[in-house]
Amino acid sequence: MLDTKDRSNFTTDHEAFRDTIRRFLAAEFSPNLEEWEEVGAVPLAFWRKAGAAGLLCPMLPEQYGGLGLDFTYNAVINEEFTYAMMSDCLTLQTDITMPYILNYANDELKDRVLPTLVAGENIVAIAMTEPGAGSDLQGIKTTAVRDGDEYIINGSKTYITNGQNASMILTVAKTDPSAGAKGTSLILVEAERNGFSRGRNLEKVGQWSSDTSELFFNDVRVPVANCIGEENRGFIYLVSELAQERLSISITAQAAAQRAYDEAIKFVKERKAFGKLVFDFQNTRFTLADMAARLQIGWAHLDWAIARHVRGELTVEDAAKSKLWHTETQWMICDAAMQLHGGAGYMNEYPIARIWRDARVRRIYGGTSEIMKELVGRGL
Ligand SMILES: Cc1cc2nc3c(=O)[nH]c(=O)nc-3n(C[C@H](O)[C@H](O)[C@H](O)COP(=O)(O)OP(=O)(O)OC[C@H]3O[C@@H](n4cnc5c(N)ncnc54)[C@H](O)[C@@H]3O)c2cc1C
Repeated sequence: MLDTKDRSNFTTDHEAFRDTIRRFLAAEFSPNLEEWEEVGAVPLAFWRKAGAAGLLCPMLPEQYGGLGLDFTYNAVINEEFTYAMMSDCLTLQTDITMPYILNYANDELKDRVLPTLVAGENIVAIAMTEPGAGSDLQGIKTTAVRDGDEYIINGSKTYITNGQNASMILTVAKTDPSAGAKGTSLILVEAERNGFSRGRNLEKVGQWSSDTSELFFNDVRVPVANCIGEENRGFIYLVSELAQERLSISITAQAAAQRAYDEAIKFVKERKAFGKLVFDFQNTRFTLADMAARLQIGWAHLDWAIARHVRGELTVEDAAKSKLWHTETQWMICDAAMQLHGGAGYMNEYPIARIWRDARVRRIYGGTSEIMKELVGRGL
């Protein structure tokens, strides 16, 4: 269990919320994890149950069915979901896709869509990456061409989280291809529209309980009113929301690292070699001490970053440093924790195997570590 003593952002209300989450996960998630990993997705029924339990989009104002809470509650959800070894699929809706609609969409879209996101009735994916453009988002080729009061969308996207389960896709498309970043828009595409199709559920190294897909747009017509905010301002909206996205990934990385450490401690205090516990080797204690020090610093930093974000002061550079440090540190800790397990750590029946394989992608998605360094470097 995560130790939350002395965490600076949390009150007894947060602890009660955390308790609810733990009970929910123990009853509804953990017993099903292996089956859902085989299927390659959590089922829609689980999304609805999470919605009914208040675990989707708690930041949404009450008028849209949310709890009107601040990001500290998202943080509690992230920590507990990840500590329970859930893939980063539900938190994507809460931390990343919902805010675009809340902060930039027109009132009709907000009224129609937001209550369904809290309830888990609709799942919104965000489709930026394409086969030819990931880090270099300005290089996307998907277009949305105006035809009266509709857009006609053509292009393809890949590696899209929740791509199989999603009923709506926030699609990043060029509305003015000659204008580069200034000609990019965010358009909500309902999955039932003609011309939209999905590829297969992609087979990944980790994060098996999350579905990831290619998506295809072939002359898909959507009303102009589905444009999120103003046409051609999509890039500005994306940049504005990146700090929360990268903070969210930092939180999951820290919680995963903590779980890896906890699993390692448990294992080495039971496993014997050369007539003593693995824990009793100095190398083991030094490795664990190094991990423990990094975890202590990580939690303190995370609390600082969360508080800063709640005050609206977390900059793009702050968030990039945070994602870089937490995801790289997570990888170091998860790998060391696997090493302390010996061969057992490489066996899928041990939790450390899942934690390790799920961790790897956090250094890649939401912007790679190299792109985080670029962002930080630019501001120096
Ligand atoms: C499991 C998973 C889920 C994902 N979910 C989503 C999603 O929901 N929505 C979505 O839109 N995308 C999603 N992605 C895509 C993800 O965001 C991209 O894979 C990521 O941004 C990297 O882009 P790329 O794969 O095109 O790599 P590339 O951009 O081709 O990078 C290849 C290598 O080049 C390096 N590189 C690139 N540019 C530079 C530079 N300027 N300086 C130095 N090095 C550089 C990169 O760091 C990397 O090491 C997901 C990916 C995965 C694996």
